[in-house]
Amino acid sequence: MAIEKLKKIWVEGELRDWDDAKIHILSHTLHYGLGAFEGIRAYRRANGKTAIFRLHEHVRRLFDTCKLIALAPRFDAKQVADASVELLRANGLSEGYLRPIVWVGDGAMGVYAPDNPIRTAIVSWKWGAYLGAGALEKGVRTKISAWVRHHPSIALAKGKIMGQYTNSILAKREAKIAGYDEAILLDHQGCVCEGSGENLFIVKGGKLITPPLSSSILGGITRDTVLELAREDGLPVVEQLITRDQLYLADEAFFTGTAVEVTPIREVDDRAIGEGKPGPITMRIQKRYFDVVKGSDDGHPEWLTYV
Ligand code: PMP
Repeated sequence: MAIEKLKKIWVEGELRDWDDAKIHILSHTLHYGLGAFEGIRAYRRANGKTAIFRLHEHVRRLFDTCKLIALAPRFDAKQVADASVELLRANGLSEGYLRPIVWVGDGAMGVYAPDNPIRTAIVSWKWGAYLGAGALEKGVRTKISAWVRHHPSIALAKGKIMGQYTNSILAKREAKIAGYDEAILLDHQGCVCEGSGENLFIVKGGKLITPPLSSSILGGITRDTVLELAREDGLPVVEQLITRDQLYLADEAFFTGTAVEVTPIREVDDRAIGEGKPGPITMRIQKRYFDVVKGSDDGHPEWLTYV
């Protein structure tokens, strides 16, 4: 579904009219995919105020991604964080999604173009449930992809690097065309990694299990939030490799991500997970997550940037 046009887009230090935020066709990143991006949500909380969730951690990851690919933006983390707030205000958004991007502009062509300008922009738009209506309540049907997640000697899974998302798109398309909602990718050793744009947890015997950061996953900020909330709630959590059969035999499974939030997985490769419906621990975590991001749980003020 096309996104709704808003008023402004922040480009290189200024708010431009939506239709005037354009780039040159020779932009290096458009040809070769080297660039960094983020995905951040702002929510209208139970107190009626709008807060961006974990803005500073997202901005830090944007700069970490830049470091991984050796791009130096002209703006620092504080400027990007302040601009995110300014943009939401300019667009009058009380809830929405923020997409900062850093890319290589036009100038030289060919893969080695060290002197091309490094550009920064932030877009915002309205975004509902990422995996469609009913996903959060009923859970999603997934398929293990024929595509494998990035090998550590080939790509940098800890970075949100634009070009790396070709792998996600291939997996997502394969799953959707086969009639599923989302793909699950294994790593080069055959262990379960993550979805095309989300981290994965299983529940087994009352314990939460998610792959460790040393596997080829993105270090998800929602993953980190869920680990923290689960520990606070006294749920045992472990970060360890998950095999395909452990996933099939899980009592419960769910995805985490800024876009998907906490989405139950009810099926993997036509096998029901648990009873084939969202499990009690998943729903408890989902509730806690929504209370923290937009409800009345004010227990983590350090995660909220009020707009
Ligand atoms: N893995 C991948 C590949 C992603 O693109 C995302 C979305 N950023 C995630 C995991 C979840 O990360 P986060 O919780 O920080 O949104």
